[in-house]
Amino acid sequence: MIDAATAGRDAMRLVLLGAPGSGKGTQAAHLARDLAIPHISTGDILRESVKRGAQLGLSAKAFMDRGALVPDDVMLGLVRERLSQADASPGFLLDGFPRTVAQADGLDRILEAAGARLDRVISLEVAASELVRRLTARWSCPKCGAIFNLISQPPRLVGICDACNAALEQRQDDRRETVENRLRIYADQTAPLIEYYRGRGLLLTVDGGQAPEAVYGSFKGRLRA
Ligand SMILES: [Zn+2]
Repeated sequence: MIDAATAGRDAMRLVLLGAPGSGKGTQAAHLARDLAIPHISTGDILRESVKRGAQLGLSAKAFMDRGALVPDDVMLGLVRERLSQADASPGFLLDGFPRTVAQADGLDRILEAAGARLDRVISLEVAASELVRRLTARWSCPKCGAIFNLISQPPRLVGICDACNAALEQRQDDRRETVENRLRIYADQTAPLIEYYRGRGLLLTVDGGQAPEAVYGSFKGRLRA
């Protein structure tokens, strides 16, 4: 729903940062809806550009098909293209971009060239132990394929499938070592980015450890402060 109080105001150009498991997707969807701005995720930009057969999209796809990272100049080109579309004129919420200081710098230059600037960078912060708890919660049944979540949909008996009584298993992606490794990489990559935006006075840190509605309520009113 569009929030009438904010819909008519100035453009709102936002970046949302948050680790895997921080609830970033939920907050992004809610905020974009409230502010009537597009929620722009890197994955969506890539998919959409590839679908249109655009040169930049195909170039990015060639890197991804080789299992390589999409280079900054290609990524920045895609972001520039996306931000120049009409629906982004009242603002936007970027999710998953930038990932590095070099990309943040590139984003500044794109906006500057368009006579605009970022308004806020929201950093959703959740304790590592809580991220691990959330990201390791999924267990599945190797026999019947049933999926359980220890937080939101636990099995009746610990470690046992409700449907067929087989012992539940974790996929490699959901195991503690994999999750901890992924979170470490994210933290290493993001720390300089957070400092960069803090230094520019744009950073708004938000406690993401609470329930989604409480998290949203805690920062929505502070965006224009
Ligand atoms: Zn089963």
